[in-house]
Amino acid sequence: MSCPGAAARDDQLPRRSSEASLRSPPTPSTMPNMLPIRPNPEPGESLTGYLVRLSGANLHEPRFVADLVGVQIPCIDPGDHQLETLAKLTGKDVGRLAAMAYRKSGPSVSRSRYGARHHRLSFLGHSVVRHHLMDETRQVCVACLKEACHHRILWDLRLLDTCPEHGWRMLSKCPHCSKDLRWNTTSIDLCGACGKRFPAAQEREPQEVISAARFLRDLVQYGAAKPELVEDLSFLQTLDVLEAVAVAAQRAHDSDGRPLHPAVERTAKSPTATAYSLILSGEHALLDTLRASAAVTRNPVLDEANPVLPLVRAAGRMNGSRFERMVMSFVRERAAQSLMASA
Ligand SMILES: [Zn+2]
Ligand SMILES: [Zn+2]
Repeated sequence: MSCPGAAARDDQLPRRSSEASLRSPPTPSTMPNMLPIRPNPEPGESLTGYLVRLSGANLHEPRFVADLVGVQIPCIDPGDHQLETLAKLTGKDVGRLAAMAYRKSGPSVSRSRYGARHHRLSFLGHSVVRHHLMDETRQVCVACLKEACHHRILWDLRLLDTCPEHGWRMLSKCPHCSKDLRWNTTSIDLCGACGKRFPAAQEREPQEVISAARFLRDLVQYGAAKPELVEDLSFLQTLDVLEAVAVAAQRAHDSDGRPLHPAVERTAKSPTATAYSLILSGEHALLDTLRASAAVTRNPVLDEANPVLPLVRAAGRMNGSRFERMVMSFVRERAAQSLMASA
């Protein structure tokens, strides 16, 4: 069995089924016997990760337990009834299970920005949009799994590409079969497609990349201070800015085709770290990047093809913030250039 110790952590093995319950079809009162091994949720574990671990401990596919509970895998926004069913099946506190779930919170955000994944969800006490969370696919830190074999909530943040604890790049594809990691596995440390365990040997990422991952971790876990340029933005807005700056920075090169900012070269494999380094560098570095990035298309107007457009759109929803003012001054500069070019 994978995830050694999962079964050993069980604290409430039920007594063996009576003959009567073996003969009877499952009813709510006999349902607990269908999952005799009931590991405790681990600190920082996601509900989907727990469902997979619970399934594996009882030698089932995740689908089996998901059907018992009446949810999908991955499990997003389970209803009260589903959480109560899971609590009955496992003997765990329903409030604790609810805290591991991402539940709808507040009205959805405009589809124009996030498409179909525009629902607002609570994520460790923060309001996020589903767009910012992993979905059908998952990512893992193999070093973390060696220490404790469960899925961390933090890994579901799509912008997190490096483990803040170990500095290893998060694994999102299986090194053996190259398939995306999905939830179709009986153990978090195994690839569901080829069944192999992930190899545990990676190099640490550059310090800038680890710093960006630690910023995200601290922002999520402790509401840590943000860089000056984004200090008055919400959690969701900060994620939006990181994502949009990363898109713009990927296209910002000097006339020799080299990345414009040294931080961009050092963080080439991590768009999130590139964005974080630029935001840390301050307004001038970011404006230089936007100018270089906007120049990749000849059209002076910021059209759909321009890599700066997502950033301008994101800033448009940050009324009165320092970041919005910076981006709007850039847009005015761009508009003036456009006027001069057409004169
Ligand atoms: Zn790790
Ligand atoms: Zn594989």
